[in-house]
Amino acid sequence: MPNPRKASVVDGFMVVRMVRHAKGGEPEPSPPPAPKKEPPPPGEKKKAHIGHTVLPTRHAIRCYECGYEFTLTARSPKTYCPKCRTILEWKDYLIQGEWSEPVKTAGVIRVGPQGVLKAGSLIATDIILEGRLEGGDLEAFRWLEIGPGAVYDPLHMKALSLRVAAGTEIKLKGKTGFRDVDILGRLDARLQATGRVTVRAGGLLTGELEGSHLAVEEGGGLRARLKIVPGG
Ligand SMILES: [Zn+2]
Repeated sequence: MPNPRKASVVDGFMVVRMVRHAKGGEPEPSPPPAPKKEPPPPGEKKKAHIGHTVLPTRHAIRCYECGYEFTLTARSPKTYCPKCRTILEWKDYLIQGEWSEPVKTAGVIRVGPQGVLKAGSLIATDIILEGRLEGGDLEAFRWLEIGPGAVYDPLHMKALSLRVAAGTEIKLKGKTGFRDVDILGRLDARLQATGRVTVRAGGLLTGELEGSHLAVEEGGGLRARLKIVPGG
């Protein structure tokens, strides 16, 4: 009969000790468990394998030297263009605060809401502009996305394709050519698009559009003079 009591007392102590152990140990052992998880590979490997086969992450890149477009699944700080063999820098940048250095990357440059470009050329596959362009210029080999609050002069920006983020209003003077145009905010322009123009839900396109592919999603608006001729 005393045995069960002892046992329960011991159990209680053990629980307390284990909890203390766990609490005291948690901050430090937290890093070690990560590598420790690697030794038991059966579950991990299976998970990783399934992850790769189901969701391969494909990064679209456009060579900033020859314009060739390709995709890669593995991410690295440098890669080379399969066509012209140029070694390409492939890093992403987030610019917050003042910036006046030139940047050339096959990755993405995001000029955040607090970012101010004072000078220098920013050249990247994709550029997201949410801050101020006070000097210098932007060149996106693929997408230029303009977010709400962005301050810029369109004359200092070049892009293959344009995305107008939700909550953003853009007015472009004169005829402007892009490949694709993705409109989630408001765009007033005289557009010539060689690719696809998509007005997303909540987006509005006004002005003129000349191109071959137009899609207006449910909830998207259009009040423009259209010349849509299939082909190409
Ligand atoms: Zn190239």
